[in-house]
Amino acid sequence: MTCYECTQAGRDDNAAIGVCSLCGLAVCANHATITPAPGKRVIGLVVVTRRLACTTCCGTQSVA
Ligand SMILES: [Zn+2]
Ligand SMILES: [Zn+2]
Repeated sequence: MTCYECTQAGRDDNAAIGVCSLCGLAVCANHATITPAPGKRVIGLVVVTRRLACTTCCGTQSVA
């Protein structure tokens, strides 16, 4: 799978590390933002979760 943002920029050599949880596009590490999400609380422990979103959905643009 190839990063959508990189493909739009004319590069198709960046492998995607994940899928944006908001728009569903595959993005590479340069175009992904991983933020901690509120964890589920289970008896005795807190489950840490995280959310992956592309730079477009996060409202930021990485300078490549
Ligand atoms: Zn990319
Ligand atoms: Zn997105």
